[in-house]
Amino acid sequence: MLRGTRSETMVNDHPLSERLAAIDGRDYGAYGSLRGVHHFEGFDLDIDHVPSDPYAPPGTGVFRVRVATDVVGLIDADLDTLTRDVAVRDHLCRRFHAAAQRLSRGRRGTGWSGVITVATPGQAVLDRNAVMIANGVVEVRAFVGLPARGRRIDADLAERVLLDELPAIVAASLAADTLDRNRLERHVATVEDARALRAQLTEAGLVAFLADGALLPRASGVDDRPLRDDAVPLASPDVLRVTLEAPHAGAVTGLGIPRGVTVIVGGGYHGKSTLLAALAAGVYDHIAGDGRERCVSVTETFPVRAAPGRSVAGVDISAFVQGLPDGRDTTRFTTANASGSTSQAAAMSEAIEAGAQVLLVDEDSSATNLLVRDARMQALVAREDEPITVLLDRVRDLHDQLGVSTVLVLGGAGDYLDVADHVIQMVGFAPREVTQRAREVAAALPSRRRAEAATSLRPPRPRIPAPGTIETRNEHGKRRVRPVAHDRILIGSDELDLRDVADQLTEPAQTATIAAAIERLADALDGSTTVGDAVGELLAEVSSDGLDALDEHRRGRLAEVRALDLAAALNRLRTLEVVGRSNR
Ligand code: ADP
Ligand code: MG
Repeated sequence: MLRGTRSETMVNDHPLSERLAAIDGRDYGAYGSLRGVHHFEGFDLDIDHVPSDPYAPPGTGVFRVRVATDVVGLIDADLDTLTRDVAVRDHLCRRFHAAAQRLSRGRRGTGWSGVITVATPGQAVLDRNAVMIANGVVEVRAFVGLPARGRRIDADLAERVLLDELPAIVAASLAADTLDRNRLERHVATVEDARALRAQLTEAGLVAFLADGALLPRASGVDDRPLRDDAVPLASPDVLRVTLEAPHAGAVTGLGIPRGVTVIVGGGYHGKSTLLAALAAGVYDHIAGDGRERCVSVTETFPVRAAPGRSVAGVDISAFVQGLPDGRDTTRFTTANASGSTSQAAAMSEAIEAGAQVLLVDEDSSATNLLVRDARMQALVAREDEPITVLLDRVRDLHDQLGVSTVLVLGGAGDYLDVADHVIQMVGFAPREVTQRAREVAAALPSRRRAEAATSLRPPRPRIPAPGTIETRNEHGKRRVRPVAHDRILIGSDELDLRDVADQLTEPAQTATIAAAIERLADALDGSTTVGDAVGELLAEVSSDGLDALDEHRRGRLAEVRALDLAAALNRLRTLEVVGRSNR
């Protein structure tokens, strides 16, 4: 039985109480004496690692709460598929997090003193190692900021935190009598439905599906929760309406985005970028109430943006760029300072090399000169003076020759109407199918430009990084790999800038996974392994052994990432050097 408060359980008799009293006022390091397993009513607390000072952030200490699955109220059927296991663990993580928010009195004292928390879940349901279930035991990897005044142990406060608040949080989130089975089942059903919808995309000839009634806009640019008031629910246009089957929701109708080249047009502020962002988010399953829980995309969907200034290592961008004025070889383009167009060309090539099936391109975040070169520019600037072959001349080949679909958001580049399979116009946040009308416009107003792609497209050859190319040691010879922000990772003495791809990471635990994975990849690159194989092998290990494969101390701060995201991070390392390419 799990009980919540000290008065109920008389935990002031708890042996920890005495041990805390014995170290009161001593230097913080004396908390190390608490290492080991402590028994509570209904759960065990395994203190595996105590940070050396009160400023060490969550992720440094390891506090494992272990509760038997039947005490939590789980039944065998909750865990009998991988999908359910992920969804149930996600649910418990959310409950523990919410209970900690509510019942921990938070920061009191120096640094993180008094804080109890767990990895913060976002809008996506993810495989995280914050909560693991095995052998009939639920294990929550929490963080407890052991309290200090200055650097001195505050035992009174520690007693409140460990003997009152923590048991209350455990009781409120991991006890059968507080488990709302309907909510749990709805959560699991939402994930099962999303995965079933996604599994039908390929056969239906779609790259994405957005259910009628979905709410796509987000609360703000920095808040991924749904925009509550005034959000216009998605309503699919007749022509692109499809019906898919979900195991729980039954028949679901919505907007199907077909394979091929799809152009989304519309006036400014009519919801184009929001639709594209929903396609990017559709690689993840979302929680009930998110608004996008029945919006799914092919998992290998990747947004490609311009990121001027980024580094590029040995990437074949010759499909888009040839004959640079400095004579640089664009079949293995290397630079420490890419231009807008070369950075985006590299992003496309890298994404395809890493297995992208769908590229998302928004005019807002693209290099214009990579998107279009109109008839007037063709007349003024001779072809031989223009190194760039624009995406307009490549986007059909991407699909027809490489099988890679593209969804483009365009407000200004009307020449794309010539190459689109489908055109969707956003009008006041509502998608309309305007393909026929677009064809008529294109016929009535010819662009008068010439197609400029001279060569046919080849798939990029997998690159082989040099051994030792990931420098994880800093100038003092210390290994240093850790996220410093959602979109930045400190690696050695360099910062890896992920700003142009970080939108694909929905929570900080994913950035932490990328950091951990890069640390492992540093040793895996042997001069014959390709980027794709190195990433693929590591993630295969993670899918068979779990995220703990990347988390030696089982700190519980990691969440799943895709091969595409990990490869994208690796490709942006400034130290990355490519020694060759495989012939595959
Ligand atoms: P565009 O890319 O066409 O210029 P955006 O997608 O950036 O437009 O959307 C403009 C604004 O409208 C954003 O603040 C966005 O959150 C909001 N918005 C988008 N879709 C909807 C919707 N369905 N209902 C209400 N507001 C929306
Ligand atoms: Mg926009």
